[in-house]
Amino acid sequence: MLPRLPEWQTRAACKGRVDLDFIEPKSPAEDAQCRALCAGCPVREQCLASALATGEAWGLWGGLDAEERLRLAERDGHELPAVLPAHGTNPRYAKHGCRCDLCRTAHTDYERTRRALRRRRAEPEPEPIMLAEPVRIGRTWAGAGQLLLPLPGVPRPREAEFGELVASAA
Ligand code: SF4
Ligand SMILES: [Zn+2]
Repeated sequence: MLPRLPEWQTRAACKGRVDLDFIEPKSPAEDAQCRALCAGCPVREQCLASALATGEAWGLWGGLDAEERLRLAERDGHELPAVLPAHGTNPRYAKHGCRCDLCRTAHTDYERTRRALRRRRAEPEPEPIMLAEPVRIGRTWAGAGQLLLPLPGVPRPREAEFGELVASAA
């Protein structure tokens, strides 16, 4: 069973206003709209008090944003808002369970990078090619027995063909 909302939340002016994002208003205009609603809200005091009591770190509560609440908390000795990683970061998704679009995207990017790194680490180190005979590389010559590292992404030639390949390209 879902926990019941505190009684005051059932009288909130923002109830059902899914068109407004009180956690992260997307524009100054949206922020102003939210604050205007809070200004006329019948449960503004309870809303602010609850955010101060729990150290809520995000969003508009009782018409005050996190920074304004932090100042109030410092001045009046309330619990300081917890410092959470910002939205749009993997820690906010993984450690704090946020599933907003920004955090989902950050998590997807993080996982993609992690998998790519792991694949790269799993690849064997390129083995150097030992030249069987001297070859010209551009303007210089590399002697027989010299070790060369293959270029990443370039198919490794068989030693016997290596001299011809470089010589014909020069
Ligand atoms: S004060 Fe603002 S955020 Fe709090 S319940 Fe009222 S409208 Fe919603
Ligand atoms: Zn988020």
